Amino acid sequence: MGDSVDLRDRAAAVTGGASGIGRAIAELLAERGARVTVGDIDYPEGVRSVLAARGIEALDCDVTREPQVEALVEHAARGTGQLDIAIHSAGVGMVGPITERSGADWDHCLDVNVKGAYLLSRAAVPWMRRAGGGALVFIASNAGLLPRAHDPVYSTSKGALLALMRSVGLCHAGERIRCNAVCPGPVGQTRMMDEQLDAAPDRDAAVRALLAASPFAEACGRMITPREIAEAVLYLVSDAALFVTGTALAIDGGKSLGVPARRV
Ligand code: NAD
Repeated sequence: MGDSVDLRDRAAAVTGGASGIGRAIAELLAERGARVTVGDIDYPEGVRSVLAARGIEALDCDVTREPQVEALVEHAARGTGQLDIAIHSAGVGMVGPITERSGADWDHCLDVNVKGAYLLSRAAVPWMRRAGGGALVFIASNAGLLPRAHDPVYSTSKGALLALMRSVGLCHAGERIRCNAVCPGPVGQTRMMDEQLDAAPDRDAAVRALLAASPFAEACGRMITPREIAEAVLYLVSDAALFVTGTALAIDGGKSLGVPARRV
């Protein structure tokens, strides 16, 4: 459906747009004609110029800092004075049981993953009202759909993010502002995944274990790509999804469905 989506008159803000899923979303929205501004705290070398070549503006923006998020949204809305699309893709992982995670870890994870979405929504909604509507999308995780033993703090943050998504969707539906989430399974070509695999004692075994937990990923012999997540986001922000709000779209190869078939 991607080719048929025309976003030429739309302005978009994307947090976490320097890398992985956020960058793929920014690039796809720009390909479809949107005027895209991304915000991030850490741009890998060369990324700013690649984004600039695609017409995407890259700002320094820490999503936990209210003035920086407001500046991102204002910049995205410059010119036409309206914002149509806001994506919260900035996120941090937090692997480890609660006994090994400090209060500071908890605060950091909840601040980036949840408060960042709250600040983005709060900044974006007034501009969307002026535009007569808009679409917010939060990048959650299958960790928000079911608890995971290995990262309870992260799972809590993504569960809370889904609660925020539903509340924002309900609260602003009357203003034609939609709010949805996607819940990815294992996505390769992302810094978050690379860091997780780099920390594993056996990288290949870690990849096998990740694939085994997602039956469709295992059947395909690979992880999900950032572009595949971006295509779903494109649908959610498009007019084709006009009546879709409050949805948590799992893109996880069946990971959140239940216990996979036994192979013995
Ligand atoms: P990524 O690390 O490539 O991208 C995350 C981006 O967020 C980075 O560019 C990082 O600099 C940025 N960021 C971190 N803290 C920030 C802050 N305070 N302010 C602004 N930007 C900040 O990883 P990704 O996989 O593309 O992650 C994107 C989202 O997808 C995250 O919310 C993550 O939780 C979610 N997710 C990822 C996977 C996966 O397997 N990679 C699976 C499910 C969900």
